[in-house]
Amino acid sequence: MKKEKEVSPTIIVIFGGTGDLAKRKLIPAFYNLYNDGWMPDKFAIVGLGRTELNDDQYRDRLFEGLTDFSRSGKPADDKWKVFKESISYYISDIDHPASYKGLAKKLDAIDKEWGGRANRLFYMSVAPRFIAAVATHLNESGLTSIPEQDRIVVEKPFGHDKESAIELNKLLVSKFQEQQIYRIDHYLGKETVQNILAFRFANALFEPLWNRSYIDYVQITVAEQVGVEERGGYYESAGALKDMIQNHLLQLVCMVAMEPPISFDAEEIRNRKVDVLRAIRRFTANDVSTDAVRGQYAAGWMEGKKVVGYREEPEVAPDSNIETFAAIKFFIDNWRWQGVPFYLRTGKRLQEKTSSITIQFRPVPHSTFPQMQAEALSPNRLTINIQPQMDIRLRFIVKKTGIEMELNPAEMVFDYNSSKESPEAYETLLLDVMTGDTTLFMRSDQVEEAWDVITPIQKAWEGRTSLSFPNYAAGTWGPETAEALIARQGHTWAINSHPKTEK
Ligand code: NAD
Repeated sequence: MKKEKEVSPTIIVIFGGTGDLAKRKLIPAFYNLYNDGWMPDKFAIVGLGRTELNDDQYRDRLFEGLTDFSRSGKPADDKWKVFKESISYYISDIDHPASYKGLAKKLDAIDKEWGGRANRLFYMSVAPRFIAAVATHLNESGLTSIPEQDRIVVEKPFGHDKESAIELNKLLVSKFQEQQIYRIDHYLGKETVQNILAFRFANALFEPLWNRSYIDYVQITVAEQVGVEERGGYYESAGALKDMIQNHLLQLVCMVAMEPPISFDAEEIRNRKVDVLRAIRRFTANDVSTDAVRGQYAAGWMEGKKVVGYREEPEVAPDSNIETFAAIKFFIDNWRWQGVPFYLRTGKRLQEKTSSITIQFRPVPHSTFPQMQAEALSPNRLTINIQPQMDIRLRFIVKKTGIEMELNPAEMVFDYNSSKESPEAYETLLLDVMTGDTTLFMRSDQVEEAWDVITPIQKAWEGRTSLSFPNYAAGTWGPETAEALIARQGHTWAINSHPKTEK
């Protein structure tokens, strides 16, 4: 599909060019796009930062990042030699208007050399507190004066609550047109996530079953094995609800639950997604106590190694009230989903690293095979594994080979890992920004609705210290209360918990 898209000459400016994200994700993504023939003939990458570096020193740093983090590994000498010529470094301070004047001169000089005004992509790879300043200076210095050509990319977190998200949106739309703003949620760039649309809307088979008549419940797990690593300071202002559920998990809910779009048009798809967020039943204070569970990891064992608890991590308060685990249950109030529970669960220091969506179908209405054990009659289940396992599995029941009529669950599997190497999410998304395709980016109303969904939970958790923290050991599947949450309606987590769980 992408090959049909023409990429015009583009200058990429990275605010926070010396930061972690630029090194680990952005530069590897641009390099792999270049390697695979997607970059335009003319492109330039300008990294911005305060550190005193010359172009070569900056390129050397990025080369290290590529070697460590690129999916294609250390760049081949001949490729790197050409690619690095497109990279330059510009010393600047986000708060200084002079930096933007200098940047404008630099970009104008590139335009002159190329013989025309190039498209401009400004990536805000900086802490959220800088976004307003960057946006204001970009606007005032005229760097983004052509809406059709100039784009800005804003990283998560987008605000820290509903009010701040609205405020940030107001500021951005006062400086740019909505079509220029790309609010990134890298989950939406993943092959497996994009494939949900193809799977649902390019097949006649599943959509007729995709509703309350046939689906018993839906669950999404995004489990990480890592703890907060060096980002304890950031995480203390976030937590699992804001860091994962507000964005990644609710976006996955939209992909699973949206109505069929009329076309693959960006606005049409975004309209259908925001409909889902609007239809999610809002939590009352009572719902929060019954249908939302928080956890925080204690010390434990991860794959045979002892690891510390969250409160012992660097830059974390010894009495921190921040949740490293969250699980919620809710309903979507529309015709398709009325009465179908949606369960979301995410956490750090869990037993496995996995992101997975489970569509649990209802049992058969009448059992023709009364003698069969319950296990063999397990209802159909569709599992969409997003990462690191990338596949779609459909569980169904078949007869065991043999003289007797014995039943057995079997699986049909579509496995991405056996197809060609898939691009990283950032590659897909950055190419979309360069081609001006906003489909996979969040519109302002989507972000605000997602905050609205979690606000009652956020308020309750921020306002009440959890006396049970820490309440799960590293290396388990989270607190026992998360089991109770799903068991109440007779359901279980598809990727199951283990008895190691501690109170
Ligand atoms: P970082 O702290 O590693 O880098 C921040 C960058 O901002 C550095 O290059 C720093 O020099 C620059 N900077 C800070 N103050 C400045 C100033 N006054 N003038 C000029 N430059 C200044 O942060 P990061 O991990 O790269 O994250 C950047 C953004 O991306 C954040 O919003 C973060 O939440 C988001 N994000 C990061 C990741 C990740 O994996 N690192 C993932 C998702 C989202």
